[in-house]
Amino acid sequence: MREWGFLFFDNTNFLRHITLKDTHQLLDFCKRLGPSDCYHSAAYYMNPAAPDMSGKNWAGCDLIFDVDADHLDTPCKKEHDIWICSKCNAEGKGGQPTICPKCGGKDISKITWICNNCLDTAKKEIIKVLDEFLIADLNLNAENIFIVFSGHRGYHIHVEDEKIKKLDANARREIIDYITGNGVDPAYQGLIQLPGGVIVGPKSDDYGWRGRINRYVTRFIKEAGEGVLTEIGLSKPKRKLILENREFIAENLSSTKKFIPGVNGISWDLAKLKLTDWLKIVEAAIKLYAGKIDEPVTADIHRLIRLPNSLNGKTGFKTKLLRRDELDDFNPLNDTQVFEGYVKVKIKRSPRIVIGDISYGPFYDEEVELPMSVGVFLACKNVADIV
Ligand SMILES: [Zn+2]
Ligand SMILES: [Zn+2]
Repeated sequence: MREWGFLFFDNTNFLRHITLKDTHQLLDFCKRLGPSDCYHSAAYYMNPAAPDMSGKNWAGCDLIFDVDADHLDTPCKKEHDIWICSKCNAEGKGGQPTICPKCGGKDISKITWICNNCLDTAKKEIIKVLDEFLIADLNLNAENIFIVFSGHRGYHIHVEDEKIKKLDANARREIIDYITGNGVDPAYQGLIQLPGGVIVGPKSDDYGWRGRINRYVTRFIKEAGEGVLTEIGLSKPKRKLILENREFIAENLSSTKKFIPGVNGISWDLAKLKLTDWLKIVEAAIKLYAGKIDEPVTADIHRLIRLPNSLNGKTGFKTKLLRRDELDDFNPLNDTQVFEGYVKVKIKRSPRIVIGDISYGPFYDEEVELPMSVGVFLACKNVADIV
């Protein structure tokens, strides 16, 4: 009942609306045509081969989540992502400029690299979405949840559960909002000012977003620097109050439900944290610590997703299917290599890459012999040619 789709190395068109009846047909198709990437629909259709959506007769869809390092703010990207101007060959690190600073050309290609830090950050995010939201709060059965390393920069979650298959796009958007904390109103979660002026809030062990607000705010109070506190609009005396009494305030938040206005020794009115200040802190904490998922992927009930255990054409790594208990020890740069032997490649330009705990490069305009999986990776990344 799934639609299949394929990409090819020598053709930019997506070949889709394919039906395959069993594993035998899938393998036969791949052997004959040699696609670079294999996808199937998250959806089930009565007629998956119909060339337009209205003719497919939608019959349900798995619930999909995508966490990609591309959408996470990791500091190392500035070091390992590069852009190259195709007109004058000028290059630089980090995000690509819209026009080349050297020649003014507009055709600039970007090479997004992968590194352990980026992949670790993505893994932590996917574990958070899984443990905190899908299993703890939404009570989904872990048996029906499959985790997939994409073979490149991120992870997917597939929930295959009769209960959620029929959810429409709006219902899926509600789940997205729940995970990202979009529209959480702290007043409904118990953060209020009592008639006498005392501010009370939820406790750390309250269920759902109540406890989460307490824990996120506690973490924010412990971690926020002067810059972040200024950004959210706290005055200098209030910033000073927080920065000099972090532990005291955090301890009060996690052990009691006190969103305290001030601490001993600082009683002057300017330094008191008012309800409006706490609301700013809650908002900032949600933005920092709530789930970070690629929202359109979850909302789209016709999406094609990468076939688990196929190879990713951007890297040559395996798109690996995992269960929750395998995730903690999983190392994406070691455990997804499938090629053996060595290969000679001519490399144009490559940042350093660590594969299988061994570091390769950086390379600049040179011919080298490398383990096959490293050579294939560089070729897939379009920075080298196999000699
Ligand atoms: Zn240029
Ligand atoms: Zn990185």
